[in-house]
Amino acid sequence: MSAPNRPYDPVGVASLEPEATDAMVAEALVAIAAANDLDSLKAARLAHAGDRSPLALANREIAALPPAAKADAGKRLGAARAEVRAALEARQAELESERDARVLVDEAIDVTLPTRRAPVGARHPLTTLMERMGEVFIAMGYEIAEGPEAEAEWFNFDALNVPPDHPARTMQDTFFVGNEDSGVVLRTQTSPIQLRAMLERELPIYVVAPGRVFRTDELDATHTPVFHQIEGLAVDEGITMADLKGTLEHLAAAMFGSGVRVRLRPSYFPFTEPSAELDLECFVCRGESVGNPEAPCRTCGSEGWIEWGGCGMVNPRVLRAAGIDTDRYSGFAFGMGVERTLMFRHGVTDMRDMVEGDIRFSEAFGIEA
Ligand SMILES: [Zn+2]
Repeated sequence: MSAPNRPYDPVGVASLEPEATDAMVAEALVAIAAANDLDSLKAARLAHAGDRSPLALANREIAALPPAAKADAGKRLGAARAEVRAALEARQAELESERDARVLVDEAIDVTLPTRRAPVGARHPLTTLMERMGEVFIAMGYEIAEGPEAEAEWFNFDALNVPPDHPARTMQDTFFVGNEDSGVVLRTQTSPIQLRAMLERELPIYVVAPGRVFRTDELDATHTPVFHQIEGLAVDEGITMADLKGTLEHLAAAMFGSGVRVRLRPSYFPFTEPSAELDLECFVCRGESVGNPEAPCRTCGSEGWIEWGGCGMVNPRVLRAAGIDTDRYSGFAFGMGVERTLMFRHGVTDMRDMVEGDIRFSEAFGIEA
């Protein structure tokens, strides 16, 4: 006796059983939900909806089913794959919008934030002032002269008429390079440049020597061991004190305004004879504060004059030491501190501001090329 006909062919495919399909869908949905970025969603798509995914492989098995079962299995599998695709698309949209939102936040520009511009350097005001002073003399036909900062003791002292026992020539006041017998010092003044000019140049001589000089001072509000001087020297026929004064008045006017006077007070320097202290008329009160307690002047301390430098006629002994005929030629020399000039001109009260290198100090003087 044969078995009754059954509505379904007994051939079955395990992967097409409803339970198996449901499990594949469930596994796919878990993986899709767990994908927290677009890359891991891409991996989930490949694993659960790709050509080698369990659902795709199961789909291929439909062909093995008896015809009566094909439609049912095909419909079920089609629905399962559609469900997985829909979940993938939904998750894809979700992750894309999350990414877009994150990009908007990450790349947002807050226009209220302070900018961080690359700082532009400023030249030091001492440099620009020294150049400006040099230019005043260049316009009068002078040349800029330079010399070594490590200078022979002979040039720095002996040739400038500083006696061997002068206190300035000790390690208390002067930086010696090596020991005290080395014969080499860090120049304590720019005057050796003038001497070199007299030895090296043809007459007449008109030079200015701006430069760095060194003394063993402690750094405080009014002293610094490294500072700058500008000295001038003129050697020609018929040079007199009147030429010296006129030249200094011209410089004073260029630095502090026209009509600012200078005053020469008798003094002593080994290099010059006669010698004078150089005072500058107070360019703020122009002397109006003197004896006038109603209107005191802070710049000159109501003195009316400010000490600026030293000057004089070049000592004939110095000229002769340089081989210059003193019957025919005479000369004047002067010098002043550049720091001191900057302090007057710009109301800088503490010298330490000039040496500390804080760019905010330099920037206040503006950017000069
Ligand atoms: Zn004054």
